[in-house]
Amino acid sequence: MTQERPYNALSGHLRKRFGERVQKIPLDAGFSCPNRDGTLSRAGCAFCNANGSGSGLLGQGLDLAAQWDHWRARLAKKYKARLFLAYLQSFSNTHGPLERLRTVLAELEALPGRVGLCIGTRPDCLDPEKLDLLAALPGETWLDLGLQSCRDETLRRINRGHDAACFARAAESAARRGIKVCAHLIAGLPGESADDFLAGIDFLNALPVCGIKLHNLYVCEGTPLAAEYRAGRYAPPERDEYVRAVCEALARLRPDIVIHRLTGDAAPGELLAPDWAARKQALLAAVHDRLARLEISQGCRIAG
Ligand code: SF4
Repeated sequence: MTQERPYNALSGHLRKRFGERVQKIPLDAGFSCPNRDGTLSRAGCAFCNANGSGSGLLGQGLDLAAQWDHWRARLAKKYKARLFLAYLQSFSNTHGPLERLRTVLAELEALPGRVGLCIGTRPDCLDPEKLDLLAALPGETWLDLGLQSCRDETLRRINRGHDAACFARAAESAARRGIKVCAHLIAGLPGESADDFLAGIDFLNALPVCGIKLHNLYVCEGTPLAAEYRAGRYAPPERDEYVRAVCEALARLRPDIVIHRLTGDAAPGELLAPDWAARKQALLAAVHDRLARLEISQGCRIAG
């Protein structure tokens, strides 16, 4: 933790481990998602749009090595960075055959300047063989694993297609192999209160997770949530509610858990509501201001 950031930020964690700045490079390996390709459903999670957060470079014909070179040149120039984490963000990157994952990881292993991997997936897309492959990859491997809510009723409502127990099993299997689990949790889900969001923090504190991404739910065009919003059946939280919830979450979070994100942001042109979600820096400043004013640091409200 630093004086400016009274929480265990990823940037500080990486600098401590590698001795210098480390930048993430987003890569698109062309995976799909069982909640979109018909394995579980074709509707997807209520808040997800069909783009799956892709950078679009794969669609332009750039393979992983070419995507890496594209971003590496830019980030090296902008931040003088020499070390990088490969970040497979789009869709569920362990969905599909084992051999496909093996091929992708072999390509990643050869990338110059790569010191680790962040790989986003669902807890129901991991089996022991896939986890063994990930555990064998050199460098620091983070498994970005969506929980979103610890309430099964909410998970059903947003069409996640898995329950909280599935997340817990996957997190424990990954941790047993030395893979660092970064859990994703969303504030403002339909039917949930701030207390439900904070119950998710307590749920994660009891699991062997090493990192967390906190997201404010926003409504994107083209999602089932957009239809709910337009019909008046869903209203996103106010900005102040989210700021309060994040600060309280940090106060209750185990201090060893690394903070990967405190906000979510929509792709340009896709945000329907709330408008404050488009102003990420102002939102972060409001969080930092509240943390400082109330002298909140990560874990400060964990009893004993
Ligand atoms: S699991 Fe991820 S990619 Fe799949 S539908 Fe849900 S949010 Fe979208």
